[in-house]
Amino acid sequence: MSDKPILLWFRQDLRLSDNPALTAAVASGARVLPVYVLDDKTPGHWAPGGAARWWLHHSLASLGRDLEQCGNRLHLVSSDNAAETIRELAKSTGAAAVYWNRCYEPFAIERDTELKSALKADGIEAESFNASLLFEPWEVKTKSGTPPKVFSPYWRALRALGEPEAPEPAPERVAPLKAAPASEKLEDWDLLPTKPDWAVGFHDHWTPGETSAQVRLDRFLETALDDYKEGRNFPAKPNVSRLSPHLHFGEIGPRQVWHRTVAHCHAADRNPFAGSAEHFLKELVWREFSYSLLYHNPDLPEACLRPEFENFPWDSSEKPLSAWQRGKTGIPIVDAGMRELWQTGYMHNRVRMICASFLIKHLMVDWRAGEAWFWDTLLDADLASNSASWQWVAGSGADAAPYFRIFNPVLQGEKFDPDGTYTRRWVPELADVPDRYLQKPWEAPGNPAPDYPAPIVDLAEGRERALAAYQDLGEAEPAKAAACG
Ligand SMILES: Cc1cc2nc3c(=O)[nH]c(=O)nc-3n(C[C@H](O)[C@H](O)[C@H](O)COP(=O)(O)OP(=O)(O)OC[C@H]3O[C@@H](n4cnc5c(N)ncnc54)[C@H](O)[C@@H]3O)c2cc1C
Repeated sequence: MSDKPILLWFRQDLRLSDNPALTAAVASGARVLPVYVLDDKTPGHWAPGGAARWWLHHSLASLGRDLEQCGNRLHLVSSDNAAETIRELAKSTGAAAVYWNRCYEPFAIERDTELKSALKADGIEAESFNASLLFEPWEVKTKSGTPPKVFSPYWRALRALGEPEAPEPAPERVAPLKAAPASEKLEDWDLLPTKPDWAVGFHDHWTPGETSAQVRLDRFLETALDDYKEGRNFPAKPNVSRLSPHLHFGEIGPRQVWHRTVAHCHAADRNPFAGSAEHFLKELVWREFSYSLLYHNPDLPEACLRPEFENFPWDSSEKPLSAWQRGKTGIPIVDAGMRELWQTGYMHNRVRMICASFLIKHLMVDWRAGEAWFWDTLLDADLASNSASWQWVAGSGADAAPYFRIFNPVLQGEKFDPDGTYTRRWVPELADVPDRYLQKPWEAPGNPAPDYPAPIVDLAEGRERALAAYQDLGEAEPAKAAACG
């Protein structure tokens, strides 16, 4: 065994299986120092929000336990300059190399590129791998060699690359350093909320960590995949995988999800590229597409891809945003979604679209305010998926829903929560409102929900106001303007 260790820098790949940087480090025969650096103070970063910090704490604890099973320990260090910390650690431990799996946030790309050069100048090898995506964003191209701007060509271009690489199993042993440096304590990082502990309900819904990610995937494939295509639209149905936080933190990789789904279908003699299974794989590729958009448009989280949207007359007053954040808009399906988000750190995709559309269009609040709230409250807060999705709903992105398509939250609620199970679960004040009026309680005779607020906006007026503002941008096509049920 070589005397010089390899430093393995964990980031958004908090797992041991399908971890190419770890596989390569172990295969080299060297001793390995696994490191996680908490650098949440660097300006220009999208530091993890409150909910994500809760997940990170438990995910690191889980990774630490898994590494101990392999005879090693996770070295924790906090820093306001992660690259410098890694460089110093590599020097002080006499490392031959630093390995990591790539991140695609613009600031991470810049940091890692500079670190690679600095390490090479120090005589230390630096190697990066792909653990987070099916394919690299620069590999998926149209026939003319450009990155696809729209999803369908993106899917076709990705499929033309063939099957993604097969995942490697976790190593049985990761040889530790003879004398590892002292680690900080996870408990001292204050990642968990206290006073008040607003995450108290999260444990009922989530178990962070690699093992539970695998269990969740298997359970989804066994019980929910068959009806995914239809069922995924109904927030009360158990047909979505809820893998998104596990995927964001890299407790499971998209290649593992892809190959397990394909194998599951083959075992049942079914075609994975048809029906519900293909639809699920396509959703996984929406994640890839978001990463491609971020990679090729580094200011995606901050700037409208269609610049004319920068002139939109957003309402920056506090009241509408605050009512939306607290789930007190008086629009039942929106309030249900916002309260699900607060209490569980998750919101169903259909409801995310409804809530985002309502904020941007009926309340005319800048999409970036919604993006920031989601960033702080979602356990799966992911720079690529969050910013691409907000721009998609706003109509300001490349492959976007046209701005004049305005979700009607009443019709959406009636269609996708027909018996009101989801809405009543999160908005108990509406328990006694008959189904017929559940999504528009203001029309119900006899005021059956006295504790529920009146709508913050008249939906028809809000819609007209948004369309008029859009028309002023010089972009509207009023003849085509349509409410989107
Ligand atoms: C306004 C808005 C903000 C969003 N912010 C995020 C975010 O911060 N992080 C995040 O992971 N997703 C985000 N999404 C996308 C989507 O809502 C979630 O990925 C999905 O709801 C996660 O639930 P699931 O794991 O059960 O999904 P499933 O339906 O089981 O899908 C499987 C996986 O595919 C990926 N996926 C599914 N739909 C999308 C999509 N539309 N875009 C990108 N990837 C997708 C996710 O990784 C998901 O875990 C956002 C959507 C909207 C409309």
